[in-house]
Amino acid sequence: MAFLVQEEPEGIFCIENEFWCFRHDRKHGGELVEATVKNGSGNNLLTTSQSCAVALKTGNKFHVFSTGRQPAIDFSINHKIDGVTLSFYSIPQDNAGKELDGVVFQHHISYSENGSSHHQVILHANRRIENPGQIQIGKLEFANIFDYSAVREELSEQCAGENGNWLWRWNRIHEEIQRKTILLSRHLPLSVLLLRRNVEAFEFSLGDNLAAWDLYPGQAQFLLGTNSAGHLVLRYCVLDSLRPVHALEGAYKFSFRLTLPKIRSTLAPLVPMAGNFLRRTGNFCDRWANAAKLPVWRETGAQILRLHDDGDAFGNGIFWRDGATRPYPLEEENKMRRFLDVAHANGIAVVPYFSMKEFHPEVPEFRKESSVWARRIDSAPELLFNYSPKAIFGAQMCLKSDWKHFRLNTVREIVTHYGFDGVYCDWCAGSECISREHECGRHWDNDALLEELEEFRRLGRYLYLHLTGTPSLAAENLADIILTEEQPYVDGIGPRMFTPHADFVNIASRQVCEMLSADAPDTERRKLALVALLHHATISSVHDVYQKFYHDLNISQELVRYQHYRAPATGVVQCSSHNCGASLYWNNDGILALFANFSEKTLYTSYHIAPENASGIERNGKLELAPLMWHAVRFPVL
Ligand SMILES: [Zn+2]
Repeated sequence: MAFLVQEEPEGIFCIENEFWCFRHDRKHGGELVEATVKNGSGNNLLTTSQSCAVALKTGNKFHVFSTGRQPAIDFSINHKIDGVTLSFYSIPQDNAGKELDGVVFQHHISYSENGSSHHQVILHANRRIENPGQIQIGKLEFANIFDYSAVREELSEQCAGENGNWLWRWNRIHEEIQRKTILLSRHLPLSVLLLRRNVEAFEFSLGDNLAAWDLYPGQAQFLLGTNSAGHLVLRYCVLDSLRPVHALEGAYKFSFRLTLPKIRSTLAPLVPMAGNFLRRTGNFCDRWANAAKLPVWRETGAQILRLHDDGDAFGNGIFWRDGATRPYPLEEENKMRRFLDVAHANGIAVVPYFSMKEFHPEVPEFRKESSVWARRIDSAPELLFNYSPKAIFGAQMCLKSDWKHFRLNTVREIVTHYGFDGVYCDWCAGSECISREHECGRHWDNDALLEELEEFRRLGRYLYLHLTGTPSLAAENLADIILTEEQPYVDGIGPRMFTPHADFVNIASRQVCEMLSADAPDTERRKLALVALLHHATISSVHDVYQKFYHDLNISQELVRYQHYRAPATGVVQCSSHNCGASLYWNNDGILALFANFSEKTLYTSYHIAPENASGIERNGKLELAPLMWHAVRFPVL
């Protein structure tokens, strides 16, 4: 895990470990020139050096001065136990080699073993700079390899600010790349994720101080598009305007985080049955799972269960209030303890639900602290309450307040006191806030959340995160299990129903939410289990249908021996029958194609594996599949 740092010829500095390789070029302003994910494509994602720029307005044109054109000043690199830090100054120059007198960019970068690098860029204007037209903090150019972008917009661009800065859609880069501009906005997104599905990814996220980027409100510019060489360009400009603006003078500090995924060398294990074991319907007395079920679940491969009880499902006031350290009356607490004992005796871990943001109003500290810790999105005094069908989940808090310390202390106390095996985190995403009790201006709590998750990481064996709508490489790099897809199945159940987040990249074990109604037929659950399997994921439920499915699933250990995987939506395996879905696994020794029949009849299909998809090998064949069954076809690599 620890980084190796080497100085190479020509002033290149290489920072690498088993997962990533980064290079900085002292000759080119000290800027980042390489970012490689070793278990991804293994190729440099960047086509040129990262850069910053200031442009002056001359008439209706910009005169651009960029970093990366001359050597860095005072370049220093420090290798510490837990990471590597760099600091240097870059002088911007124009195309003719002329400097912009009095302007310098100061960089502080720290690489951590969680895959993130924290960048602080200070723009020093040591004299008054009149007529600035463009100020670019971080431009990156990528090889044209990504097929999706996922952008989390600032609240002013969203219709439901009370929810948080959710992702609204995954943009297909290849469909939009012909237009040259994929996304262009005068609002700077809080994070941008670029994904090559199932292979590798890259994430840019703003630091928690968003007000720093509001230097020229309404005149910023974000661009995700292609340049004349066909390379993908990601550009954050705090100013990009020909309108008159105030002069630059002084020091302006910006921070952001770049993250590469911690791709594993072989596929992450499947985690069957890792769902909530509490019943939420029927008789309250029977809501704790019968102890006799645990050896049976263990036989299905169950390793971990979730105690998820944040809403008053039975309308009797007995549920775990967010923020409470003693969740239940004594009788119910004893049931919880007995369940934990039996689970542990069967080798099954249990993790409790924690909301990273919600605070229940009946928790004693709420009355005193909530108005100060609250997340605010406007000047209204009312808190942002989230409601369950029969009760309140809680009011939203901001982790830039002392809520962060309270949450960590309560979670630590609970895990230690009851002997849980880790934590399950919901509302696990940074969200924008304007409370001046926390910061002097607009902010979000993304870095604060990630710091909190690093602390949680130390509390037990499992860090299990719910990330529907909030993909985050930085969070996934810390996690063991990721849960996604908490949205209704509006288009029905089929092999391409999930977002790219269901299969994503090979960082952690993946699960999808079970969103079927309680009276859904067993065949629907069976189909859902098949879709999840094709996505190298499991269903987050302990329903009997899944118990049988995972009990019979005798291929899990084989699948995780492969290095490479492609989901059905990549089109990796083409089937002649529309009721058939397929995914593909391979390594140097062989290929495994996994098929599933989504119809309730025997199905006959032909299939084609394209040569570009697996070690350059093409395969064709025919197949008979039993109703609602999966089937694996294996090919040696000759
Ligand atoms: Zn706040």
